[in-house]
Amino acid sequence: MKRKIAYSAAVLLLLVVGVAWAQRTDVSRFFPIYDNGAKPDLTVDPKRFVSQMEIVDRLFDATSCEIQEGSVGGTGYRRLLRFDTVLINGGDGDLVVGSPTDPNNPYYSVFVFSPCHNHYHISGFSNYQLLNLNHKVVALGHKQAFCLEDLLKYSNDNKSNGYTCKFQGITSGWADWYFKQLSGQWIDITGVPEGDYIVHVEINAAGTFAEGKDKYPNVIETTIHVPDPRNKVTVDNSPALTDQ
Ligand SMILES: [Zn+2]
Repeated sequence: MKRKIAYSAAVLLLLVVGVAWAQRTDVSRFFPIYDNGAKPDLTVDPKRFVSQMEIVDRLFDATSCEIQEGSVGGTGYRRLLRFDTVLINGGDGDLVVGSPTDPNNPYYSVFVFSPCHNHYHISGFSNYQLLNLNHKVVALGHKQAFCLEDLLKYSNDNKSNGYTCKFQGITSGWADWYFKQLSGQWIDITGVPEGDYIVHVEINAAGTFAEGKDKYPNVIETTIHVPDPRNKVTVDNSPALTDQ
C-alpha cells in the first residue's frame, strides 16, 4: 500500500512538471539549426529529460561495472533518480570527434577505453548532480561517460553523416540518445532525505568541444521531490544495459 502511494505521488509530480515543460518546449521549434559559423552547438532535450524522470531501486554487487565506474556509491540496493539525456546538435556544423584509436586525432587524449562497455568513451563530457534549493550538491553525482553518435533525427533537412562509437560525432540537426535504462543514466540518491531538490545536468562540461556562439544551454535543471528513503519505490530487476 505504502509503495503504491509513494510511487503515485512521484508520478503525479512528474506529470505536473512534465506538462509544464511540454507547454513551454517543443524541440523542433526551440532548437532549430542556426548559423553558428559551421560549428556544432550541443544541448539537452528538456522535454525528454523531464518526462522520463523516475526513481527506482536497483541491486549492485561488488563485480558490477557501476562500482568500478563510480556511478553508484556502494553495493546492495541503491536508490536511483534516472532520466533520459538526448544530446541535440543545433548548430549548423557537425560535431566531429572522430576515431578513438587514431593517434593523429586531435581528440585522441580525451578518449578512455571502458572495459565494461568494450568501447571508448569521451572523458569528462557530462556532470550529473542533485542539488538542494540553495544549489549545494547533496548526493554523490558523477560524470557520465559517452560515446557520441547519431541516433535521433531532429531536423527535416539533414541526413546523418553516420557517426558511431567507432568514429564519433553528431551531425547537425541530429541527436544522441542516452535513455534512462542505460547504465549510469542516473544520480545515486540513496539516503537523501525527503524534500525538494534540483536535478542538474551539464554537458560538454570540460569544455572539450568548441560550440561557436553557443546559443543553446549546456546546463539543464528541473526540480524533483525525493520521497522519504524508508518509502518503497519500484524495484528494477531488469538486466543491466550499457550503451552500444
Ligand atoms: Zn559506453
